Amino acid sequence: MPFEALGLSKPLITAVHAKGYITPTPIQTEVIPPALRGLDIMASAQTGTGKTAGFTLPLLQRLNEKARAKSTHALALVLTPTRELAAQVHQSVLDYGKLLKLRSAVVFGGVNIGPQIRQLSHGAEIVVATPGRLLDLYQQKAINLSQIEILVLDEADRMLDMGFIHDIKKILNLLPKKRQNLLFSATFSNEIRTLAKGLLHNPVEISVAARNSTVTAIEQVVHCVEQPHKAQLLSHLIREGAWQQALVFSRTKHGANKLVKLLALDNIHAAALHGNKSQSQRTKALQDFKNGAVKILVATDIAARGLDIEQLPQIVNFDLPNVPEDYVHRIGRTGRAGATGHAISFVSMEETRLLRDIERLIKQTIKREKVEGFQPKTQPIAPAKPLVTKNNSLKPARNSPRPSGSRPPHSYNSKRNTGNRTEKGS
Ligand code: AMP
Repeated sequence: MPFEALGLSKPLITAVHAKGYITPTPIQTEVIPPALRGLDIMASAQTGTGKTAGFTLPLLQRLNEKARAKSTHALALVLTPTRELAAQVHQSVLDYGKLLKLRSAVVFGGVNIGPQIRQLSHGAEIVVATPGRLLDLYQQKAINLSQIEILVLDEADRMLDMGFIHDIKKILNLLPKKRQNLLFSATFSNEIRTLAKGLLHNPVEISVAARNSTVTAIEQVVHCVEQPHKAQLLSHLIREGAWQQALVFSRTKHGANKLVKLLALDNIHAAALHGNKSQSQRTKALQDFKNGAVKILVATDIAARGLDIEQLPQIVNFDLPNVPEDYVHRIGRTGRAGATGHAISFVSMEETRLLRDIERLIKQTIKREKVEGFQPKTQPIAPAKPLVTKNNSLKPARNSPRPSGSRPPHSYNSKRNTGNRTEKGS
């Protein structure tokens, strides 16, 4: 089905085509028509499904038919959990709305509030915001929410995970009762359903990927490795596979910093992205990664939420996440919009239980793959018993290490391979 069939106006279709998109993704096909009719929507969709265009396009079209926002007012409010996601959503608003005369603003914390106050003073039809900064601006009377007609909650589950529920409730109380609401969430926990109940009126429910299922376009593999050898293994895979870009997940901020330093010793340029970095450092790390100046981005779960990095080929779980659902979120950063991605997990004996929890959640056994020179001395980690291997046909990851018998892996300076290279702490 082409974009034209969804009821979008010419300028929007032209802007979408200019981005190189020919056909809508499933979430766009499902969300755009009812959203254009002004209905409330509750959509289950992860990052990588094209959800941003799914709500941005109808938002732009509906606002284009309405009056302009008065000074300090806004007509549509998009709430996101993180600064990065706010910036990305705003970029989509600018890209898709480039042929319309709508005004938009993005506001988030960690940067000077002055320019945001000045921008809002003229009024903006669309405001994209993180909850905390929006409330700051409201208290300073820099934004008036009484003209809001459309509210979008993007990555609502993340907002709740990050403790924004009180801020969200405060914001909801400041909005006019009659409005259109669009709620997007990767998962629908009971907490999200409670929030949705008080927020949405007869919503159209849309789901494009089964809850907690992983996308088939992602090839997943586990390397069993002793914790102190993980950094060395990563370095080896990057070199042997000539990786151009990979997002690496670390459980802790301290671990992320440490890994960046270890990779630097091996002349691999990496950057860390986590909550202790200033906004300018975070923006720079992301920019450098996107333009290729930095090959490896080492991030914690919170910092990586909602990152839009197109067609990321490689995800590495340097540490397994404590919460199995985070595994699904993490690997959702690869294999996006039709491209195949690879998700590699480094699993130490201490993480056996976490791996089993993940396999139970995704109802899939992840293929174990040996890397010569890095096998742990202990027995390899067997899959959880009740699982049936659904994915026997998994091919080895592209750029995956050479098979055993070929050249030995270590280009890494073995003097640096001391036993204290664990990534715990922080
Ligand atoms: P999102 O889930 O909104 O973060 O989007 C994931 C990625 O898919 C982004 O890089 C978009 O630019 C891209 N994308 C969005 N819509 C389409 C489409 N219809 N066809 C191809 N790529 C798309």
